[in-house]
Amino acid sequence: MKPVIALVGRPNVGKSTLFNQITRSRDALVANFSGLTRDRKYGAARHDDVSFIVIDTGGISGEEEGIDAAMAQQSLLAIDEADEVLFLVDARAGLTPADQHIAHHLRRTGKVAHLVVNKTDGLDAEQAAAEFHQLGMSSSFHIAAAHNRGIRAMLDVLVANW
Ligand code: GDP
Ligand code: MG
Repeated sequence: MKPVIALVGRPNVGKSTLFNQITRSRDALVANFSGLTRDRKYGAARHDDVSFIVIDTGGISGEEEGIDAAMAQQSLLAIDEADEVLFLVDARAGLTPADQHIAHHLRRTGKVAHLVVNKTDGLDAEQAAAEFHQLGMSSSFHIAAAHNRGIRAMLDVLVANW
């Protein structure tokens, strides 16, 4: 079985941009699910000699009260299906309550989850990432998905652990 990686995070953090970067050389959309399981997009990806599946999700709004309401159903399903989760946050926007909700939920699932601090272009990445440490994630990466920065290095680490 190929490893399944879910991209999770509130809207606008760069999940789809990262999805496109990871899958673009493959140009291989596996499936689009619509309807009840809205907006889960499955892509085939490959890093070095390792093939895996990546799931893009419509995001988690964080506008609602409480974790159950705050997390969109497709994101919950994607987390369920995944072997590992990449939890994206936005270095420009900073830490938000929605990020806290998602971190809390991920801890409860017990899934292997990695914090991905995106949009670090033009910022001091270490400084931008510092406030996210309080999310208590065990591992983190700094990337700029739109500029294809940090993605290879991140995948090197992920793949090495499979
Ligand atoms: P999603 O809602 O999480 O799927 O986010 P998108 O991938 O649609 O990206 C939301 C916005 O953030 C878009 O305007 C992207 O161009 C922008 N964005 C994504 N990655 C980066 C990045 O690394 N740096 C900057 N500055 N903007 C980015
Ligand atoms: Mg998106």
